[in-house]
Amino acid sequence: MATVSCPRCHQAVDSQAITCPYCRTTLKAFGHPGIPLHRASKDEYLCDSCTYHADDTCNFPQRPYAKDCTLYQNIEESKLQSQQQLAHQSFGVTVKSWVKRNQGLLLLLGLVLICLVIALSTS
Ligand code: SF4
Ligand SMILES: [Zn+2]
Repeated sequence: MATVSCPRCHQAVDSQAITCPYCRTTLKAFGHPGIPLHRASKDEYLCDSCTYHADDTCNFPQRPYAKDCTLYQNIEESKLQSQQQLAHQSFGVTVKSWVKRNQGLLLLLGLVLICLVIALSTS
């Protein structure tokens, strides 16, 4: 069972729990375990660190003073994610271009391997 810590009483609770069993704080929106409800800590607003506030795509009435929000996406986290994605992509590109450059070598290796298999199976 995955656990998260309750934003209010900091007890470990099941990550699927809709309300905190210790302090009854609502943890999920609309009573649905699939929708996490994000909460701002005491003297800040969620919008200040939200991607949708930064790129001005949010049209929630509670913006920019949302204390809790279902759509909140942390801007630092999403930046990190896209960076990781980029790193991942460039790794893929590197592999692809290496394969392209060494196509002849790979072909030769493949042939040698096939010969080896044939030689082994007939001996
Ligand atoms: S999605 Fe929520 S937290 Fe983000 S800007 Fe809109 S109201 Fe604020
Ligand atoms: Zn709690």
